[in-house]
Amino acid sequence: MSPHLFSGSTLDAYTSAVWHASALLADRVKAVRGPYSGASVEDLRDQVGAVDLDRPLGDTGAALHEVARLYLDHAVWFHEPAYVAHLNCPVVIPALSAEVLIAAVNSSVDTWDQSTAGTLIERRLIDWTAGRIGFGPDADGVFTSGGTQSNLHGLLLAREETGGGKIFATTESHFSVAKSAAVLGLGPGAVVGVATDRDGGMDPAALAAAIDDADGAPMAVVATAGTTDLGRIDPLAAIADVCERRRIWLHVDAAYGCGLLASHRRRHLLEGIERADSVTVDFHKSFFQPVSSSAIVVRRGEALGRIAVHADYLNPRAATVPNQVDKSLQTTRRLDALKLWMTLRAIGSDRIGEMFDAVVDRAHEAHRHLLDDPDFEVLAAPTLSTLLFRYRPAGLSVPECDVLTPRLRQRLFHDGRAIVAGTTAGGHHWLKFTLLNPNTTMAHLRDVLDLIREIGRDLAGERAAAPVMA
Ligand SMILES: *Cc1c(COP(=O)(O)O)cnc(C)c1O
Repeated sequence: MSPHLFSGSTLDAYTSAVWHASALLADRVKAVRGPYSGASVEDLRDQVGAVDLDRPLGDTGAALHEVARLYLDHAVWFHEPAYVAHLNCPVVIPALSAEVLIAAVNSSVDTWDQSTAGTLIERRLIDWTAGRIGFGPDADGVFTSGGTQSNLHGLLLAREETGGGKIFATTESHFSVAKSAAVLGLGPGAVVGVATDRDGGMDPAALAAAIDDADGAPMAVVATAGTTDLGRIDPLAAIADVCERRRIWLHVDAAYGCGLLASHRRRHLLEGIERADSVTVDFHKSFFQPVSSSAIVVRRGEALGRIAVHADYLNPRAATVPNQVDKSLQTTRRLDALKLWMTLRAIGSDRIGEMFDAVVDRAHEAHRHLLDDPDFEVLAAPTLSTLLFRYRPAGLSVPECDVLTPRLRQRLFHDGRAIVAGTTAGGHHWLKFTLLNPNTTMAHLRDVLDLIREIGRDLAGERAAAPVMA
């Protein structure tokens, strides 16, 4: 009997290891005073590099303590209110309890005989999501590793269905669209940029013109419901009109905006999504789920079957049981769906929708606050929960600001008390708040802005004192 393997005879060791890990985590989280320790890459590289992987410590407890020092002490904590950088969310507790089960049972949701009820749980959640989207009874889908894979999968189905090779999307669409085109071997120029209106959403008239003028057969239109930078939602119903008239596959990338599916106050922002052929949803962004939790959902389920490849060792030809592997790009696959299941059963989707609404409200509040602060400029009003802004007090020119902004962000990261993102828009550098933590209050955001102001002043002063340094 191996004492190291999870089994009915090692349950004491198992519960002790899991208890020890959660106690250690709680101990470290209690001591957290900001989203990051501020450690440099060199520091961490030395510490991780110094571990001799060929000399085991001999027990889980000792290894956990080492990991706490190497990893937990320098993790980036998404639950910290001053973490306002990327589309990472704090996670709901019922989903964490599901993780314990997922890891130990270790089901693989490929064939029925490797997951049984897990398969049915995943299918119920796909049906639930399809219902929220507004798809009919023919809808189907599958959980994936993330929005990147969901987008690839949606576009692969479009390719199979249409045989075309041109994808239409705005420059605000996620880079995984271009990556998918490359993976699909579509060649350079496959993604045709569609002009946006003044707000950054896809212009449906420009879309129609781009399709009609394209030098190649259309394959898909990708509309984004929640762009990564500005949170913009392309006009889904008008885009669906264009696609239906031309019988072009419409893929809606709602990796970020899918939280609206749970919102009572803002669900209308997704109107038209029910006319998509395929939809990407990232529960690990706006449903407060641990990574990974994502899905591709299609309006006509039979489309998924087009990529099924038969393997005798997996699925008997005349399968009378449901095998998710026939629909997935993956084979061995975690039962990630159990996290969402636990969430819906323990607290329900209304709570999720309220939390997503809260962060959108906060973004609007922060926008008003930034408009009133003469040291800051804000690019545009929010649609969802992101805001692009920059520190630009009187006397700082835009070119100076473009030099200062990336440095400011870098210095803030190594300060560790707050993390914001950086991006470019219109050829200029901007800082970005991505608000996905309902516990982040305006007081926290004011503190983050004060910190930015303080660092910005220092940097501007250093530049003034050393004018030779460009
Ligand atoms: C994050 C994001 C993706 C990619 O999702 P991953 O889960 O990170 O792979 C795709 N599209 C949009 C709009 C996103 O915001």
